[in-house]
Amino acid sequence: MPENSVFKDNLFEGKKVFITGGATGMGLGFAQAFLNHGAEVFIASRKEEKLAEAASETKKKFDKKLLWKTMDVRKNETVEDVAGFLSSEWGELDILVNNAAGNFVAPIAAMSENAWRSVVDIVLDGTFRVSKACYPLLRKAKNGASIVNIIANYSWNAAPFVGHSGAAKAGVLNLTRTLALEWADDDIRVNAMCPGVVLTDNVKQNLMIDENTAKTFEDYIPTGGVTTPEKMAQQVLYLCSPAADVITGDMLIADGGQWLVGNAFYQMGKKFLDD
Ligand code: NAP
Repeated sequence: MPENSVFKDNLFEGKKVFITGGATGMGLGFAQAFLNHGAEVFIASRKEEKLAEAASETKKKFDKKLLWKTMDVRKNETVEDVAGFLSSEWGELDILVNNAAGNFVAPIAAMSENAWRSVVDIVLDGTFRVSKACYPLLRKAKNGASIVNIIANYSWNAAPFVGHSGAAKAGVLNLTRTLALEWADDDIRVNAMCPGVVLTDNVKQNLMIDENTAKTFEDYIPTGGVTTPEKMAQQVLYLCSPAADVITGDMLIADGGQWLVGNAFYQMGKKFLDD
């Protein structure tokens, strides 16, 4: 049994899994969890050195092979290139996790159009491009396919100081439900997962506006505190497992109840309003 997993170790034996942005943070946690449950896993993102590092660390730590290729979800030709590669390598795809994202803290009044566009392009347009390019492969999965879109707990509510990400993730939630209906006849389930706070390198770099931010986030989580990629991977595994084969167009909120309390970004970002 893989470490800290409630699922049987061969649950995804023979399954082919593609995770965007899978070289770092939670994406890498998802990739390693699927590998450790018997799947073949492919990751893609922009930085070759991160992809190579993720593959070599995974080999060292788990003795498993992680397949990878560079891809920028903002550039359709690179997305098509990856879909072509998967088509020739695997000929089908069982699971797609749309995880790639960009985010940083900025009030809308100070946000350039470029900043807005780049986050929406990665998160919303990227999810559209990758899902569409993978659709012919997902349709070929022998026992039904599953897509999990990684959103955030401000997707259906206000997203103060991360407005570009909030609008984009809200779009992804709506797209999740649209695809759940449009692709139901193809036996493709489409769900979203809202992670809790994971202090990944990029979160520390782009979302922690001062030394109190991590504590503010922690104070807004009723149960469980900040979480880990491994714990969040269990949520994704569940959504892709046969136990969830009656679930589509839904979202799994795995944030320890944080969204019920209020938006921590608002509390920590209020200082923008005082300036
Ligand atoms: P992360 O480590 O920053 O991972 C994001 C990945 O996306 C990176 O590997 C990055 O790789 C890739 N990426 C960015 N732009 C891309 C592009 N144009 N094309 C292809 N790949 C691209 O983030 P994380 O914190 O693990 O977050 C994972 C997911 O959870 C994201 O969807 C995020 O919004 C969501 N989330 C995270 C938290 C949290 O607390 N961490 C909370 C709520 C939701 P390259 O830079 O090499 O391209």
